[in-house]
Amino acid sequence: MNFNNDQNPYLLLTPGPLSTSSSVREAMLKDWCTWDEEYKLLVQSIRSDLLTIGGVSAEDYTSVLMQGSGTFSVESVLGTVIPSEGKVLVVANGAYGSRMATIAERLHIPVTVVCGGESNTPDLVGIERELREDQSITHVAVVHCETTTGMVNPIEAIGKLVKQYNKTYIVDAMSSFGGMDISIQNIGIDFLISSANKCIQGVPGFGFVIANRLELNKCANQARSLSLDLYDQWVTMEEEQGKWRFTSPTHTVHAFKQALQELKEEGGIAARSERYRTNQRRLVKGMRTLGFETLLPDADQSPIITSFREPVHEAFSFYHFYTKLKEQGFVIYPGKVTNQETFRIGNIGEIYEEDIERLLTAVEKSMYWLEPIG
Ligand SMILES: *Cc1c(COP(=O)(O)O)cnc(C)c1O
Repeated sequence: MNFNNDQNPYLLLTPGPLSTSSSVREAMLKDWCTWDEEYKLLVQSIRSDLLTIGGVSAEDYTSVLMQGSGTFSVESVLGTVIPSEGKVLVVANGAYGSRMATIAERLHIPVTVVCGGESNTPDLVGIERELREDQSITHVAVVHCETTTGMVNPIEAIGKLVKQYNKTYIVDAMSSFGGMDISIQNIGIDFLISSANKCIQGVPGFGFVIANRLELNKCANQARSLSLDLYDQWVTMEEEQGKWRFTSPTHTVHAFKQALQELKEEGGIAARSERYRTNQRRLVKGMRTLGFETLLPDADQSPIITSFREPVHEAFSFYHFYTKLKEQGFVIYPGKVTNQETFRIGNIGEIYEEDIERLLTAVEKSMYWLEPIG
């Protein structure tokens, strides 16, 4: 159980930043120099740990760390790896898929979007049709766990099509990497993007990319931005053995190393995904008992975050519900689906089944709609 205390009065049941362990937070209590040998060795060890966790060989894959929140890394990939004559097919069934399309538009990268609605799984037939009919598509980008709803997208089935048509495959695994098993190499993912403050359970400050070496090697002088040039960042990290081009988030990097160590101690991705899955099942079972409905059918649901429909009851207000829960030590997340009233509860981070049990007790006490005021 992650006990609340004065320093940390509530648990974040959110998709990141999330509740971290006190040992991860304690890893930040010193100051470090960015060109120091010890620091660069730490960066190199993190880069190599990421390949190990990702289950990819260092011969075929490499990893690059990039300053900023997760979106900066997504923008860095899209802006660097698609050549000027390229075009990206974005599969969008939520805000994060749509954000990739917006990034492409902003960077003047030709883009086609296949979207089938936020509560629906991606349209594989539509994706194949685009790949077959539009020869100018060079890259396909999809979100693994669409955090908007909590849906897990079929990156394997989409990957088959991408490889069948010989395209480069970009996967935003921001909210799933470290918490769900992903066969990067088997699926043929060329660029997988995630960040420090999601399932690895570090604190915010940088994102990272696990990249197919051959594909990344083609990307010199292509980036549409200086600071987000993934290729240049990679070359500097390789040639200068762990050096970032510009100031790196040193404290976050130290916390991340500690978080990686704790992931290993927990038993790797297999054990962590099992814990998340147990949390998620317990949450849904308890919430259903209390009368709540999930937005998605169980088959489409990730073990990361769950969307619940707001009860249709005059005495329910999300604001009251949120505030009451926060008073009792739990912060939940508003909904992000555009056409339905929902709220979200995440169960990743330093969260255990006992925490979910305590949450359910708090939810029961906070349901104004069962006990209308006055
Ligand atoms: C969290 C997240 C991102 C990145 O969001 P930031 O706020 O930039 O860190 C991107 N994609 C998905 C699917 C996410 O869950």
